[in-house]
Amino acid sequence: MQLPPQPSRLAMVPFVSVEHMMKLVNRIGPAEVIAGIADTIEYDYRRWPEFDKTPRVPSHSKEGVIELMPTSDGVTYGFKYVNGHPANMARGYQTVTAFGLLARVDTGYPILLSEMTILTALRTAAMSVVAARHLAPENAKTMAVIGNGAQCEFQCLGFHKVIGIDIVRLYDIDPAATEKAARNLAQSGLTVVSCKTPEEAVTGADIITTCTADKQLATILTDNMVGAGQHINAIGGDCPGKTEIHRDILMRSDIFVEYPPQTRIEGEIQQLAPDHPVTELWQVIAGEKQGRASDRQTTLFDSVGFATEDFSALRYVHAQLKPHEFQDLDMIADPDDPRDLFGMLKRAAPVV
Ligand code: NAD
Repeated sequence: MQLPPQPSRLAMVPFVSVEHMMKLVNRIGPAEVIAGIADTIEYDYRRWPEFDKTPRVPSHSKEGVIELMPTSDGVTYGFKYVNGHPANMARGYQTVTAFGLLARVDTGYPILLSEMTILTALRTAAMSVVAARHLAPENAKTMAVIGNGAQCEFQCLGFHKVIGIDIVRLYDIDPAATEKAARNLAQSGLTVVSCKTPEEAVTGADIITTCTADKQLATILTDNMVGAGQHINAIGGDCPGKTEIHRDILMRSDIFVEYPPQTRIEGEIQQLAPDHPVTELWQVIAGEKQGRASDRQTTLFDSVGFATEDFSALRYVHAQLKPHEFQDLDMIADPDDPRDLFGMLKRAAPVV
């Protein structure tokens, strides 16, 4: 892999603020950005063995979790700081917020610092469509989305653009969330159906996306709601003690995961025996294992979000940046004489 371009002054770090990220995404188009990140994720999944991998490092509290997600491909290092606080919404805050960084491995100097709250929603949709490319039934046209919060529209746009979904059937326990999503998707080219129950939402769906937020072992999908041949894109169960899918569905599905050591702790499969068979998605993408094998098969992507996906999303942003979409941040102390850090501080002291 090539080294990323160097900023004009080594110690200056390009910083992508929330405002910059919105400029970049609106210039390219949200659906196109999701498709672009999906291609970058797929490229990086194909070279999976090159990456340092570790389950993310969590700090749990009764309200939620704060996590660090590091990885490196030997040339570039990256990490994301992310939280998950389901009770935040009632306080008027986001459930998930994030920022992240890329650095050169050869010098250790950062090359990008970026907001990642918007970027996480884009990359989560991108990862969902990467999985669906290999697992969804052929010619899937209808998707149910249960949980119509911050992630919902990104998922819908990604599936429309990359998978060819034309109809989304939305359900949320809070009808205001469904109304918001339907409003935001009005010009998207999707037919949006607002549903009154989760059972109504899954009727006729080829794909079911669950993206609810509740720190408990919830049952968003019960066994009778899932038929043969459907693909489940389960993104909301991503933390110990936080799941969405009934165990009976897991027992009769073929389950695909990002990084098993992390998913066994955080994903839907925390409900199953530690040796329950799962397939690693990178092997499907690399052509080593089969994805969907028949139109009767129930496939389940047990998404939790893995560090390499954030790395790929940051790489995509870094490659797309235009000059007005970042500012140089003076965040690395870099004296002309590398040993004279104190002298630099002294010379900057006000003269009295
Ligand atoms: P959010 O708080 O904005 O939205 C969650 C929505 O779920 C809310 O509208 C809420 O009313 C609804 N909801 C809660 N319980 C429900 C139920 N029983 N039935 C139907 N709807 C219900 O959260 P968000 O940012 O959209 O994130 C959704 C979930 O996805 C969170 O759990 C988050 O941790 C997870 N997430 C996962 C990934 C990943 O990579 N897998 C990435 C980002 C977020």
